[in-house]
Amino acid sequence: MEPGRLEKFPSPGRGSGLRALKRARPGELLSRAEPFACTVTKQRLGGVCERCLRRNERLLRCSQCKIARYCDTRCQKEAWQEHKQECKCLKSIEPNFPPDSVRLVGRIVFKLLGQSAACPSEKLYSFSDLQSNIEELSEEMKEGLRHLAQTLQLYLRVEIQDAFQLLPAIDIFQIFAKVTCNCFTISNGEMQDVGVGLYPSMSLLNHSCDPNCVIVFEGRQLLLRSVREIQIGEELTITYIESLMPSSERQKHLKRQYCFECNCLLCQTQEKDVDMLAGEEKAWKEIKDAVTKVGDPRSQEEWEQVLAMCQALLNNNADSLPDTNIYLLKLLDCAMDACINLRRWGEALLYGKRTLKPYRLYYSSFHPLRAVQLMRVGKLQHTQDMFPQALKTLKQAYNIMKVTHGADHSLVQDLMKLKEQCEAGM
Ligand SMILES: [Zn+2]
Ligand SMILES: [Zn+2]
Ligand SMILES: [Zn+2]
Repeated sequence: MEPGRLEKFPSPGRGSGLRALKRARPGELLSRAEPFACTVTKQRLGGVCERCLRRNERLLRCSQCKIARYCDTRCQKEAWQEHKQECKCLKSIEPNFPPDSVRLVGRIVFKLLGQSAACPSEKLYSFSDLQSNIEELSEEMKEGLRHLAQTLQLYLRVEIQDAFQLLPAIDIFQIFAKVTCNCFTISNGEMQDVGVGLYPSMSLLNHSCDPNCVIVFEGRQLLLRSVREIQIGEELTITYIESLMPSSERQKHLKRQYCFECNCLLCQTQEKDVDMLAGEEKAWKEIKDAVTKVGDPRSQEEWEQVLAMCQALLNNNADSLPDTNIYLLKLLDCAMDACINLRRWGEALLYGKRTLKPYRLYYSSFHPLRAVQLMRVGKLQHTQDMFPQALKTLKQAYNIMKVTHGADHSLVQDLMKLKEQCEAGM
């Protein structure tokens, strides 16, 4: 973290916050943070390196647990400190595998037991400073956390006989509560979720549905970047939740997981709700249900089923819903994903192009998701030798990405290569 760039301050009505000590223009890197603890998600297990979280087809397997995988011996060596105790635990509960939050809390417990000095990630705010909001959690949430604490107990048993006896120094239930409201989802350059992690100093960032900063990741490193002009003393904000939700749903999510009500301008004016829910209610409700049920298709057959479902719904609702309806938009995205997985490039491009206008509406100014969507469409145009069109789309992606990701981000490097290929093809 650059010294003297950010500071903790009491944010009125929101506990602590983070504010800028210097002016910033859009696209400045305000902080680069290593995690206090992190882990790859269960879903990506075996597909990405456990140390650097990069995608890799050929990964080395940990010879002891045969679960953890790494790019090479260097990544494996670097990961050993955080893996060595967990390695025995993973092996002991096979063929079961812990939920992500349990694996993460396991790593936190080992770290707290072994830790002597503060971690650099705790420079502005330490793990012990993190809010747990226990008093405000619903009974249902508390019950869920108690259940996770029991799962952790079983998982850690080979290394720690009675995790609950670690009290009062280490309060397992409280750690789960802290993880619930402070955990960051780590995404790769394409904004797909690959891991979960804690970055305590970055937990000072408060939420806005219309924030002045964004977070992107490079491997396991968190990058905090400005997307607006920021004045000295101005509070820095990020979005905690997905943006494609009407205000009432955003409020519900924020209340449930983070225990507060958002009073940002977008929530007060409910400005985009009309566009988000435009069209026949009966039609979008059906689509909302269908999209929620898609899950995680893997095989060709599963993707074909998903595509057939999308095609049928798109045909049936061609006249009743505009593309800006957020559920129709999600359906278009889903159809595009399915086509890409089935290598049906032409059809993927048709769906992809339809998403661009609504993306511009909802992810206005600089948003990493819009940049990535433009890049995906550009790639599809490139695949089909539509070089001038591809180049135009990729340039638009670049103009956003240099702000949201920064020119030295690996994804921007990939984008530059793609641009060069288009120029060579013309
Ligand atoms: Zn292992
Ligand atoms: Zn690696
Ligand atoms: Zn809001």
